[in-house]
Amino acid sequence: LLEMNHIEKGFDGLGVLKDISLSVKEGEILSIIGPSGSGKSTLLRCATMLEKIDGGEILYLGERAAYIGENHKPVYKKGEERRKLQSYFGLVFQNFNLFPHYSVMKNIIDAPIHIQKRNREEVYQEARSLLKKMGLEEKENAYPCQLSGGQCQRVAIARALALNPKILFFDEPTSALDPELTGEVLKVIKSLADMDITMVIVTHEMNFARDISDRIIFMDQGVIAVEGTPEEVFSTEHARMKEFLGKFH
Ligand code: ATP
Ligand code: MG
Repeated sequence: LLEMNHIEKGFDGLGVLKDISLSVKEGEILSIIGPSGSGKSTLLRCATMLEKIDGGEILYLGERAAYIGENHKPVYKKGEERRKLQSYFGLVFQNFNLFPHYSVMKNIIDAPIHIQKRNREEVYQEARSLLKKMGLEEKENAYPCQLSGGQCQRVAIARALALNPKILFFDEPTSALDPELTGEVLKVIKSLADMDITMVIVTHEMNFARDISDRIIFMDQGVIAVEGTPEEVFSTEHARMKEFLGKFH
């Protein structure tokens, strides 16, 4: 579904992603862990075309979404083709990024109606059923400021799902939440796993990552230092990884 080959990305001459290659198959759940500054968010931002790559190529469904052209500059699709590629993925951030002046319902249905031009009634019904899955059926007319952080994040997840992405990216979806609200969001993400939704999750929740992932990547200083099943990764002898895991005990 997603393939990233030999991705390079730097800021101000400093390499942040160095020869990163990974692929995500349909239905797979990949978690990305690693110390602060190792490049996890940059990797997600490159995968979702929020940030331009300096090297390598990105493919969605075998179709080249980004590559380096003959003039050594990155080449991206434009217009309709770009919108089609963007419809393949959704992104859930640490800080929810809900529109504060929109109701919960409007936050969810706005893009499907105005960008995807889908039928209003159909989108509305689907949004109601998503809110129900998120345990928020009472909240459709509330505004984000009236919700807890955990509820906001569940709205953000519903909003991403309403666009029917083929793959959902999460960047530390619970790190802005109080510990007692983290559990409810992790539970919702787990329920998505049971629905066979393909996910790439950057997280500092080690037990969650171990529990939910088919595969885990440990990033360190811009490279993939360890990759494997949860069993393999959590029993690694890799020194930096052991040191990193030690911080969670
Ligand atoms: P965290 O766990 O703290 O979220 P991270 O693994 O997500 O860390 P990134 O946000 O990807 O790390 O940052 C990797 C490096 O790239 C950092 O050194 C950061 O300062 C740098 N960086 C990220 N975005 C930019 C930017 N827009 N301009 C300059 N440097 C940046
Ligand atoms: Mg980050």
